[in-house]
Amino acid sequence: MATVAKEDTVRRPRVLVLGAGFAGIGAAHELKKSDVEVVLVDKHDFHTFQPLLYQVATGLLEQPAVGHPIRDLLHKQDNIRFHQDRVTGIDLDAREVTFTELEPHGYDYLVLGLGAEVNFFGVEGAKEHAFPLYTLPDAVRLRDHVLTNWEEVDRRPALAEDGAINVVVVGGGPTGVETAGALAELYNGVFKKDYPDIPSGRARIVLVEAGPEIFPMFKENLRGYAVEALTKRGVEVMAGEVVESVASTRVRLKSGAELPAHTLVWGAGLQGNALVQSLNLELERGNRIGVDDELRVPAHPEVYAVGDIAAITDQKTSQVLPQLGSVALQSGEHVGKTIAELVAGKETKPFRYHDKGTMAAIGRGSAVVQMLGGRTMKGKKAAMAWMTVHLALLPTNEDRAKAVVDWVGAGLTHQRSGRISVDPDEGREVVRAEEPTLKGQS
Ligand SMILES: Cc1cc2nc3c(=O)[nH]c(=O)nc-3n(C[C@H](O)[C@H](O)[C@H](O)COP(=O)(O)OP(=O)(O)OC[C@H]3O[C@@H](n4cnc5c(N)ncnc54)[C@H](O)[C@@H]3O)c2cc1C
Repeated sequence: MATVAKEDTVRRPRVLVLGAGFAGIGAAHELKKSDVEVVLVDKHDFHTFQPLLYQVATGLLEQPAVGHPIRDLLHKQDNIRFHQDRVTGIDLDAREVTFTELEPHGYDYLVLGLGAEVNFFGVEGAKEHAFPLYTLPDAVRLRDHVLTNWEEVDRRPALAEDGAINVVVVGGGPTGVETAGALAELYNGVFKKDYPDIPSGRARIVLVEAGPEIFPMFKENLRGYAVEALTKRGVEVMAGEVVESVASTRVRLKSGAELPAHTLVWGAGLQGNALVQSLNLELERGNRIGVDDELRVPAHPEVYAVGDIAAITDQKTSQVLPQLGSVALQSGEHVGKTIAELVAGKETKPFRYHDKGTMAAIGRGSAVVQMLGGRTMKGKKAAMAWMTVHLALLPTNEDRAKAVVDWVGAGLTHQRSGRISVDPDEGREVVRAEEPTLKGQS
């Protein structure tokens, strides 16, 4: 009895995990058996699987395949509590985090897994008019915008001449290429049947990349293959072109060219979450937090930065690791294990990244893969590898099953079940106007 009472009064160390992306969830799960109190906070109530956002934006997958309830991922963990709230401030010296509504939280260990956000690099009009693709709301907004534009052109065909169904995608990295490829398949596949009166040649999809080539992170043979695969799908690839300004219906390039397009997808750059600016830390390129080999923040050994928010140097190559799901998951898991080891009085180990290769999908049966040793794959074999790796990254078997059903369905029938737009505000004004009368009557 006495031992139990004594144990009850001893406060367990509190691990505050900010962000429930790959990194935050990875850290939280590794603390499952540790004698700590884990508090996880995210502004969303769902975990976002960013690598497949472009498939939601193009109607291939439905939202639940890419956004999984966070609480569902924590059911088997007794030592954790999740709160949906927005982090508003982090005081590393006072060891306190503030939120929109929650009481301020102190911590013994802090895990920063707040991810990155879009960087428009100050391009005029981009913030107002561009469609980024970093969150689930971004993907839904883009999908609804594209669907709305096609319906408008169906009603007023002359709008096609003004570029209403043209899309400019900025950024020749995986996000831009995957989105451009998927849009082209949507346009050439199901939209041809959905809108038989709109000639398919009316719509342009243009991929603009500032550098001399798309896919700079891949070897030359894969870069060439990607251009070929995109061109075959009808995407116009413009490399060496820089977007100067964006308006709602036009995209102006630095070369002077003007592209008529009512949609510009921004896949050109990221920066660390805006909250990093308030930390009084010297930030690395892209506003990322530099960390030591155990992923600790300098001068604050109880604070760890993981995933996209961190600039993690690969011990093998001395290069900063890219902002990838596998880096986020592995770094988060490592920090979870490290804290568990510290709490148990055990020795900790530095972080070592296990590179599973870099890959991107271009379309059905078309992808590129580059392995650590430099081996490359392209085409159908690479598409299978891409699918396998992305299925493994999905958080639950249920999500994997959903994705497989949608992929197989789309592969066999070209169908896109997610291509409906639902306006959540439809009819709201009517309800609001009626409400007082109803209350008054009761
Ligand atoms: C379109 C796209 C395609 C990609 N494709 C691939 C790919 O094919 N393969 C691959 O490996 N990687 C890919 N990535 C990268 C990969 O998805 C990211 O590296 C990974 O998601 C980063 O995980 P994270 O946990 O660091 O951050 P995130 O997943 O961004 O999680 C951060 C969490 O913090 C929360 N948050 C942010 N600010 C606040 C706040 N103020 N208060 C509370 N909560 C907050 C967010 O809601 C979010 O849940 C892609 C990314 C994008 C955008």
